[in-house]
Parts: sequence; structure tokens; C-alpha cells
Amino acid sequence: MSADIHQIAASRLVGDGQRYTSIRRQLVDILDAAEHPITIPDIMRLHPNLAQSSVYRNLNVLEQAGVIARVVTDDEWARFELAEDIGGHHHHLICERCGTVRDVQVPDAVESALDESLDSLAAMNGFELRHHRLDLLGVCGACRA
Ligand SMILES: [Zn+2]
Ligand SMILES: [Zn+2]
Ligand SMILES: [Zn+2]
Repeated sequence: MSADIHQIAASRLVGDGQRYTSIRRQLVDILDAAEHPITIPDIMRLHPNLAQSSVYRNLNVLEQAGVIARVVTDDEWARFELAEDIGGHHHHLICERCGTVRDVQVPDAVESALDESLDSLAAMNGFELRHHRLDLLGVCGACRA
């Protein structure tokens, strides 16, 4: 984990009138180490010493400050990951059968083809495209097997 992530997190929290407490730092480490967006029950399984109410509250504070982001699915549990401008641009593969969410990095060539298509769609609507978010819904390899 680079010290930069902690510096960015600390300054965003300060900007939001919050302190970068040790639990918040620990949650950022957990999300940074996780390969995919994780739920509160995942965090509790990995770190049974943490209090669930405190995890819940502090994730909300980190989300408010723009340090982490919530990945929305129609699953009962929200999933969390580092904010994209910290963790890097990527897309999600969401399995409609088992609910798993995988991060996927899109190759540069595909990403620029995407941007080009989305740019023209935006332009048709008088909209200036600056970023995009794109989740792919379907059936994961494990469920297909
Ligand atoms: Zn699946
Ligand atoms: Zn993600
Ligand atoms: Zn993209």
C-alpha cells in the first residue's frame, strides 16, 4: 500500500471536517488489499475484532469524504471499494446469479473505442462527456460451469 493513498484519504477527511482515525485507516487498508468490492459481512469475516456498527459508521464517513465508493447492485448488501480516482478506472462484472462483483480493467484499445462511442452519444444529447461508469451484468464463469 502506498503512503499516498493514506495522504489523500487524510486530506479528504480533513476537508470534510473529519479526522483520519485508526479504524478509518484500517478500513482503507482492507479495501486497498481486497481484489474486488467487498461487503460489510466480508469485512467482519476478515476482521472479527472490529465492531460491525463502527465499520458501518466509518464506511459512511469515508464514503461522504469521497475516499471510498459504494458499488450498487440489487444484492441485499452494498459493496465498497476505494474511490475510482484513488484506486484507478475500471469496470464491474456483476453476476446476476450469485451476486459476485469482479473488478475488470479494460484494455486501452477497448477503453478508447468505448470513449469514442460514448462521446458521440453524449454529443447527440448536447452533453459534454467527462467520465463514464459501466457495469456489465451477466453470469460469471463459476455459475456457468
Ligand atoms: Zn455467479
Ligand atoms: Zn470496482
Ligand atoms: Zn472505462
